[in-house]
Amino acid sequence: MLLPKNPYNGPLAGIHVQRLPVVDVLERPVRDLRISVTDRCNFRCRYCMPREHFGQDHVFLDRQHLLTFEEILVVVKAAMGAGVTKVRITGGEPLLRRDITTLISMIREEGPDLDIALTTNGALLAQHAQSLKAAGLNRVTVSLDAVNLQVFQAMADTDRFTPTDVLNGIAEARQAGLGVKVNAVVKRGVNDNEVLPLAKALEQHRVPLRFIEFMDVGSTNAWSMKEVVSGAELRQVLSNAYGPLEALPAKQAGEVSKRYVTAGGREFGFIESVTAPFCGGCTRLRLSADGALFTCLFASKGHDLKAMLRWGADVTAIREAMTGVWQQRRDRYSMDRTEETATEPKVEMSYIGG
Ligand code: SAM
Ligand code: SF4
Ligand code: SF4
Repeated sequence: MLLPKNPYNGPLAGIHVQRLPVVDVLERPVRDLRISVTDRCNFRCRYCMPREHFGQDHVFLDRQHLLTFEEILVVVKAAMGAGVTKVRITGGEPLLRRDITTLISMIREEGPDLDIALTTNGALLAQHAQSLKAAGLNRVTVSLDAVNLQVFQAMADTDRFTPTDVLNGIAEARQAGLGVKVNAVVKRGVNDNEVLPLAKALEQHRVPLRFIEFMDVGSTNAWSMKEVVSGAELRQVLSNAYGPLEALPAKQAGEVSKRYVTAGGREFGFIESVTAPFCGGCTRLRLSADGALFTCLFASKGHDLKAMLRWGADVTAIREAMTGVWQQRRDRYSMDRTEETATEPKVEMSYIGG
């Protein structure tokens, strides 16, 4: 039997070893690493970074506290050794991190077979799409909550960017040969009447549109269950317009989006983290911009890898720390969510990476 080559630079570097999958307390393997490269953003989405909490006087991470690309690479190598096959670059807005394409090429060089994706608000995507593809990025997920200018600008709390900027970014990304998916968070009374206009505007781009239920991430977005529009409700709206939707089987284990298709072949996805949580298949590990490891989007504290890295820890040491953290993991926040847990202190999504 051909055994996988040891991918990290410990004492067994280069030697073929059989490694058992690293699983947590609930038997979930670690498969995905989400890397936040910055806590800054050029939007102030009301559901993520409301301006009253992230205004002029908000103190963002100082450059010296951000992990360097070399440090991030050590974490990526360690994660590959623990079983990670997918890496997602996120933030904050990842396209604000200087030379982000350099990080992508570094990761690509280390993992020729890695699936590398990036989540962006799309505002700066048109100018970066070609170089992201050339650096080795496979896919982008673009967030777009409305095509109506007023609704878009109210939700993102911006007067600098427009839905056209994002749609141009989507077009450029496709042109460059990147895989593209679009995500829309729906809030009742805010953009629920944008569901069909969004579907129509994206028709010509031929990209899957996925709807995300508004979540109680962080401690600043004044979440309320009343503002959550469920996936079931959205499917009803779409089937009134497009005819019955047929459920598609999951492409792979742990897929968070439930996919549906119309008779005309249009695909829609639903990420129902509130009304149909999927913690049972959650294989995601998160690295914050300042190098803390989080095992759940709703965690209140992480595990500091930056200190280890700056004390000279190598890939093996980081992999062992990571494995230890994962093996202790028992997170299932969304499955235990109540109106009470929603008010508990949690780390902000722009910091931990969405
Ligand atoms: N700035 C990039 C963007 O917006 O795509 C990447 C980071 S953002 C935190 C990642 C994703 O989280 C976006 O799709 C955003 O819509 C989603 N998100 C942020 N806050 C959310 C919330 N309260 N509920 C649901 N999704 C949220
Ligand atoms: Fe920025 Fe993305 Fe958060 Fe919106 S969702 S404020 S674009 S990080
Ligand atoms: Fe994973 Fe935590 Fe979300 Fe559950 S609540 S799916 S454990 S990130």
